[in-house]
Amino acid sequence: MLEATHLTKRFHQGEIDVVAVDRFSHRFQPGITAVVGPSGSGKTTLLNLLAGFDTPTEGEVRVQEGEKVVVLSKLDEGRRAELRLRLMGFVFQQWNLIPTLTALENVAFPLMLAGHRLKERQERAAALLAQVGLEKRVKHLPNRLSGGEQQRVAIARSLALDPPILFADEPTGNLDSASGERVMELITSQARKGRTVILVTHDLELARRADWVLRLRDGRLVDG
Ligand code: ADP
Ligand code: MG
Repeated sequence: MLEATHLTKRFHQGEIDVVAVDRFSHRFQPGITAVVGPSGSGKTTLLNLLAGFDTPTEGEVRVQEGEKVVVLSKLDEGRRAELRLRLMGFVFQQWNLIPTLTALENVAFPLMLAGHRLKERQERAAALLAQVGLEKRVKHLPNRLSGGEQQRVAIARSLALDPPILFADEPTGNLDSASGERVMELITSQARKGRTVILVTHDLELARRADWVLRLRDGRLVDG
């Protein structure tokens, strides 16, 4: 369960007050929800609020944690990080893999943070890389992989701890169409497994594949 209520974020840009997200309310469901809107409409800010990277000026985000429902902004940053690790996976436009770690080590990284043993980490990471078709790239450093391959490593890593929620911000933004297609198929298959996928994009073609589409304009949810 992931639910936003009257979520609002204001930024001060010098003399001007920008309302990046304006009273956004929505209950996200398993499957893909695309969040679309032009550049500057608040998509990334909304994602940052939903994931607890940023705190709202008003309103709240509620997340199901086991039997409990917790309000993200009521937790301190340490608890939010812990909750993110277990409940949320991330795939961004910039593939933010750790450049000095191999593909396998990158995928194993969240498992290390969660305290899994080395052997288990390596086995799980190898299985995840195989799932995204990269069994022959486990020992490669990110700069030896193509953009599409790096993004598939990022997807494998995002799934390491089997999170119920997956955030993707323009995940195909830097890819050629064939690689982008492959990445979208992987994301779609995760949604079919019952994950709640939040796909932020300005690409209406991608949004068409989503189960639900939310349109943002000036930080506000618009109809239709
Ligand atoms: P999108 O992802 O849809 O392009 P953003 O969420 O990045 O939109 O930005 C929404 C609005 O909030 C923009 O007007 C942007 O300039 C402003 N904004 C975003 N982040 C900040 C920040 N850290 N400080 C000030 N203004 C910001
Ligand atoms: Mg953005």
